[in-house]
Amino acid sequence: MPEQLSPAYLKKLANTYGTPLYVYHAEKIKEQYERLQKAFAQINTRFFYACKALTNLNILRYIRSLGAGVDCSSIFEVKLALHAGFSAANILYTSNGINFIEIEEAQQLGVIINIDSLSNLEKFGRKYGHTYPVGVRLRPNILAGGHIKISTGHDKSKFGIPVDQIDKVIALVEKYNMRINDLHIHTGSDIKDADVFVKGIEILFDVIPHFADLESIDLGGGFKVSYQENDTVTDVELLAKKLAEAFAAHPNPAGRLLQVWFEPGKFLVSESGYFITCVNVIKETSSAVFVSVDSGFNHLIRPMFYDAYHRIENISNPEGEWQKYSVVGNICETDTFAWDRNIREVHEGDYLAFYNAGAYGFEMSSNFNSRLRPAEVLVKDGQTHLIREREKLEDLLKNQPRVL
Ligand code: PLP
Repeated sequence: MPEQLSPAYLKKLANTYGTPLYVYHAEKIKEQYERLQKAFAQINTRFFYACKALTNLNILRYIRSLGAGVDCSSIFEVKLALHAGFSAANILYTSNGINFIEIEEAQQLGVIINIDSLSNLEKFGRKYGHTYPVGVRLRPNILAGGHIKISTGHDKSKFGIPVDQIDKVIALVEKYNMRINDLHIHTGSDIKDADVFVKGIEILFDVIPHFADLESIDLGGGFKVSYQENDTVTDVELLAKKLAEAFAAHPNPAGRLLQVWFEPGKFLVSESGYFITCVNVIKETSSAVFVSVDSGFNHLIRPMFYDAYHRIENISNPEGEWQKYSVVGNICETDTFAWDRNIREVHEGDYLAFYNAGAYGFEMSSNFNSRLRPAEVLVKDGQTHLIREREKLEDLLKNQPRVL
């Protein structure tokens, strides 16, 4: 098992590359991928990395080298994946509310497509009929996930075609003689309970008999990782066991062996990532001691967006006295990373490392307040590689022709 990168090592990287800085540990990604493969070895399974978590090209190339496919949520992710060397046959495009033009483009590129609305399904049927296989994303009407904002399968969610509209799906499939080869659900992120996936598959078992061309069922992503000590994580081994039992109890009526697909994002890259910031200012007030770092929700939005918890460590003073701090950013909006958090004594100039920052960290970053986005570094086989340069003023200026 790869060791977590040590505070001393992270500090060295901060000194070398500057802060704020994202660091990813390749061997941790590999460990997570191999854990999935091992857990699901008894089931005919295929994994597509949900690259919305982190699309750095070198990360994509690395995950491709491990043998995974890739799940994309925009045509540009599809193009990045092709650029990173994935073959079209290993690229899944799970679309959501997109213009049909993007679906046509994806079809031309030859990738696997999932459609999530009756409207686009009808357009697809009219244009391609039986000639191009397509998947259907269903909304299972299950409420699950770590936060309402990352819960996508419930009965008020915009994602997928509600499973109660399955008759309409079937009618379209018959009308256009469509080849539905995959049924897809994704109930949300941070799903710790294996039974949620089992509930999803039970819902699919009811509708599977209507789709004679089915080859796979896709249960999406959402495996939970550990953000805090003693956090419950998805027991993937237990999930594999329960899925095998569910399959045994529901032999496919047509006798076909269906492949099970998953789209893990966070599970593969979250724990591989570290976000390192430097303390600009310490401000003592009657309510809190604020530690202001050289970053903000423009670089790591998860705490402000959905109350996500990231462990924070003072890697400049790992043996210092424990103190309580509120860690905030330098953005001109309320910008809190952590309230009243126990951290080793902090001084201005210290480096603070945020753990589990690989997924939806850099990827959701922005130039808000006209601040530059951080550099990204990959640690692989004990070597460090700069895989994205820190932005410069020119990056803010580009694409803005002077007209006045
Ligand atoms: N698949 C789909 C369709 C998603 O929308 C998401 C996340 O939003 C994922 C997979 C990945 O989820 P996670 O990163 O929690 O594994």
